[in-house]
Amino acid sequence: MPAGGEQADDRVRDVIVVGSGPAGYTAAVYLARAELEPLVFEGSQFGGALMTTTEVENFPGFSEGILGPDLMLKMREQAERFGADLRSEDVDAVDLTGAVKTVTVDGKTFRARALVLATGSAARYLGLPNEQQYIGRGVSACATCDGSFFRNQHIIVVGGGDSAMEEATFLTRFAATVTIVHRREEFRASAIMLDRARNNPKIRWVTNAVVSELYGETTLSGVRLTDTRTGEHTEVEATGLFVAIGHDPRSSLFTGQIELDDEGYVLTGHRVGSDVSTATSASGVFAAGDVVDHTYRQAITAAGVGCAAALDAQHYVAAHP
Ligand code: FAD
Repeated sequence: MPAGGEQADDRVRDVIVVGSGPAGYTAAVYLARAELEPLVFEGSQFGGALMTTTEVENFPGFSEGILGPDLMLKMREQAERFGADLRSEDVDAVDLTGAVKTVTVDGKTFRARALVLATGSAARYLGLPNEQQYIGRGVSACATCDGSFFRNQHIIVVGGGDSAMEEATFLTRFAATVTIVHRREEFRASAIMLDRARNNPKIRWVTNAVVSELYGETTLSGVRLTDTRTGEHTEVEATGLFVAIGHDPRSSLFTGQIELDDEGYVLTGHRVGSDVSTATSASGVFAAGDVVDHTYRQAITAAGVGCAAALDAQHYVAAHP
């Protein structure tokens, strides 16, 4: 790995990748194998969202499952094996205009003809003091990822929008009961999603309440609810707590330079000479993974689009020597 005090080089690289989750590393593997010598800014903590989880059972190829950090280490090693230049540093600024783009890291500037943005998104959690210690031990923000670990158990879903209804309905496939906890009386969810959840006999409802405390020895065993009108507390036994209150795409670095949607996700699919699915509104800038995706948010989809972004970047570079 290069020394931290290195001067910015004047070299104009083919491609720089920002991010080291499944999208960033997959892009790096493809770009490195195409001999484009990608420079990859991994962020100060490499590996992305899966570094915070335990068992991953739905990434193809690992029939017995694999620990999230082990999967990410394998992706990292694969990118390194083909010569990707990996640096565990955060990108502080980018300039996405012009034929040569710049990336600034700790005061140093790096240049490239193409960029792949793969900075992911952050699930919103409740912000309770001990919440992070229960992630992977009862607390989750992804029903698709973790639902099947909660067979015949009692689960709480926090939220009042479509995602909360969808997650709760999905979780009834596994759980004994699913209790939706919502801080207000009214729900933001669409009528159809709400009706589907209301008609599900496994779903219970607690409105005008917030989760105010989590407890359990090493894994979650219950939560304390606080009534938002009276301040009264009740305790509910639950081994799973799914937080479904939204995600924040990590796109603030790009604001004002490429098109983002109303929620801050990077918009892709702009045509750059041909059908280029990962192209952003800035020529030569491609994006992949959860920073783009409100819908699927899975490691395999992030990796798949990371591959597409690498191929799109590769074709772009070939067409813009
Ligand atoms: P991320 O994995 O979020 O990676 C983003 C990367 O960008 C990080 O490395 C970060 O450091 C870097 N970055 C951000 N800003 C900067 C910057 N300024 N400079 C440099 N780098 C930067 N999916 C599954 O398929 N199966 C599962 O079982 C599963 N379990 C999950 C469990 C948990 C607890 C969580 C949170 C998610 C889980 N997911 C699972 C979802 C999956 O992790 C994500 O969909 C996937 O990681 C998204 O990949 P990504 O590459 O887009 O982003």
